[in-house]
Amino acid sequence: MTSIVTGLRDATRLHDGRVSPSSLWHGDPRPSVAVARDSNGAIVRIGGIRDTHGSLLGTVNTAVDTFALEARDIAKSFGAMSVLVSSSLTVKPGKTVALLGPSGCGKTTLLRVLAGLETPDRGDVIVAGRTVSGAGTFVPPEKRNIGLVFQDWALFPHMSVAKNVGYGLTAAERSSGRVAETLAMVDLEELADRMPGKLSGGQQQRVALARALAPRPDVLLLDEPFSNLDHDLRVRVRGDVRRLLQDLGMSAIFVTHDQEEAFVLGDEVAVMRDGVIEQQATPSVLYDAPASAWVAAFVGEANLVGGHIDGNHADTVVGPVPVATFNAPNGEILNATVLLRPEYLMLGNGDEGIVKDVEFYGHDTAYRIVVGETPFLVRAMAAPRFALGDTVSITY
Ligand code: ATP
Repeated sequence: MTSIVTGLRDATRLHDGRVSPSSLWHGDPRPSVAVARDSNGAIVRIGGIRDTHGSLLGTVNTAVDTFALEARDIAKSFGAMSVLVSSSLTVKPGKTVALLGPSGCGKTTLLRVLAGLETPDRGDVIVAGRTVSGAGTFVPPEKRNIGLVFQDWALFPHMSVAKNVGYGLTAAERSSGRVAETLAMVDLEELADRMPGKLSGGQQQRVALARALAPRPDVLLLDEPFSNLDHDLRVRVRGDVRRLLQDLGMSAIFVTHDQEEAFVLGDEVAVMRDGVIEQQATPSVLYDAPASAWVAAFVGEANLVGGHIDGNHADTVVGPVPVATFNAPNGEILNATVLLRPEYLMLGNGDEGIVKDVEFYGHDTAYRIVVGETPFLVRAMAAPRFALGDTVSITY
């Protein structure tokens, strides 16, 4: 297995004079981290995440004692089809985890296992320290204290907003003012007597959220809750939901196949592929230190090139790329796949590459470049400087 290493944009590189000010367009230097794996796939070194002054902000894989929810090694098949192979994820108290993956990879199935709507073939589900699914244990959905918001919101059309929100409550809870309190949280007090059919899409979405929040769940599970909204409303509503979950300190898992949505909503993102969580990390760690080439390409745009790691740099087709100092076992030089994000590559006058395509988006320009046989995507935050057929230099 080839190691994957992320090219760094660290304080030294940005301030040592080798990089011209015009190349700093991408804004503040990012925290940087490098992850490498040995030939058995084990992580052999995890770099620290440092700020622009070199201070350590944190490290990957920080252990946490208690979780609002934990799924361990979940497997689930439907007949001969194995959908969840070994899915593990954790939700820290008060945090939102976006469960991101391509269509059909098993996201909804995992959510249904967590909720108790499916029985797993193997693995444990632990909610607020209590095993709700595991060897010999199966707590039914209504006793798990988990709130659910489905893709279609599943509101009862013949019940008012207030009745929908009060549906899962006990009589005592209903008479304690819980419904009005929950409607106030989502700013819907005025519409308590309205029927769902007379609400806008965004309002219906908030009723569904209020209904799931009313019993004060330990964890909220949301399955693509914005997919019925048009783009502008979706962007606005997801911002509202993020603030609400933060204000309430609610722990949540949020299924999406949209990377932008996962990054905006998730304190952490769990990336799923073919029934396995390949990586769970904060959006910036995922972007800068993906655990595999597949994650690198799925989460954002990626140039993946071969390189030889030698100490603190990788030799690649675009020259040396700084990486976190990597002490290979026995001091050997490693072959690695090096991740070069398109916005970190720079074009100049030269003859190393040929421009094959130019697309100007207003906020930036995307260039397709070929260096020898190797294709590159480069993004520059400026109007096009180079045209189709030009020869260019390309550096990191
Ligand atoms: P999407 O993003 O498209 O909603 P997903 O990642 O949520 O996809 P799932 O809905 O979990 O994926 O489905 C994963 C696979 O399991 C699919 O191939 C689906 O057809 C299959 N599957 C899901 N539920 C069942 C079931 N009850 N019986 C048989 N197959 C099922």
